[in-house]
Amino acid sequence: MRIVVLAGGIGGARFLQGVRAWDQNAEITAVVNTADDVTLHGLRICTDLDSVMYTLGGGHDEERGWGRTGETWAVKDELAEYGAEPTWFGLGDKDIATHLVRTRMLDAGYPLSAVTDALCDRWKPGVRLLPMTDDRVETHVVLAEELEGAGVRRRAVHFQEWWVRYRASLKADRFVQVGIEDAKPAPGVLEAIAAADLILFAPSNPVVSIDTILGVPGIRAGLAAASAKVVGVSPIIGGAPVRGMAEKCLPVVGVEVSASGVGAHYGARAYGGLLDGWLVDETDAGTVLFGADVRAVPLWMTDPETTARTMVSEAAAIGGIGRE
Ligand code: GDP
Ligand code: CA
Repeated sequence: MRIVVLAGGIGGARFLQGVRAWDQNAEITAVVNTADDVTLHGLRICTDLDSVMYTLGGGHDEERGWGRTGETWAVKDELAEYGAEPTWFGLGDKDIATHLVRTRMLDAGYPLSAVTDALCDRWKPGVRLLPMTDDRVETHVVLAEELEGAGVRRRAVHFQEWWVRYRASLKADRFVQVGIEDAKPAPGVLEAIAAADLILFAPSNPVVSIDTILGVPGIRAGLAAASAKVVGVSPIIGGAPVRGMAEKCLPVVGVEVSASGVGAHYGARAYGGLLDGWLVDETDAGTVLFGADVRAVPLWMTDPETTARTMVSEAAAIGGIGRE
């Protein structure tokens, strides 16, 4: 059984725990968003890959939701004492070790996919982690700042600055995925999609996690041509995101913050979109996506076993596959 999951950070990681729990013998490939990646203090940081790697490797801080267990912040505090910007990004000491190894390998010329493999030698996530691309792609946010009586000034900041520093409070005009036109899917991504028995969209941020993966040239066409069924899981329950601030991103691209809005955004494969199936929460029962199999199940990811039992098994049923 081969399962491919398109994933962002936290929502992706939790969902992957459920997929792994559902069938321990399945060959699971996670295609992970890398457009949130950022270079700070000379370190290349891959937030979504790290969230997935730490979570599946059992090294994540469950309560905080991101970063390492038992983290300390000595380096961050020392940098702040020097006034070394940026001070708003949470760089833990243990986390920094990951970024040092990654940056050193990238500087030596290894592609990100090979670096991720090497990091996973330690973490053994039980899932093949593939960056969506080895090329540099970064989401920037074009801000529209109202000047008093003097129109609007536009400037772009890195997505992490908008998200982490400003908590998405500054008015965004649009997102730009810098470099995406020239990006190629990382080695193995298109092959995994073509060979899959089931393809899943994790309940990740539709705009800055899933859409960026879909935006890498070749991936959307690969999904459209895949023989496996494609089933998405809604990150929106009852008109609000479960964890995080996806409600800040959807309106920027003109999508309603609802399970049906996100479903329509991905579209049904039968009508030129991507989805054969769409899982929504029970509170959103009655959601319609014409041409797709829409099913309502509990979508709160409390623990991997529950996620496996309620969400993954239902997605697999839509996909027409069973456990090995
Ligand atoms: P990020 O990269 O760390 O922001 O994480 P993702 O893009 O993978 O996922 C963020 C999304 O996960 C948010 O929009 C949440 O709505 C969604 N999410 C988080 N926890 C849950 C959950 O328990 N159930 C569902 N359905 N969605 C969730
Ligand atoms: Ca992310």
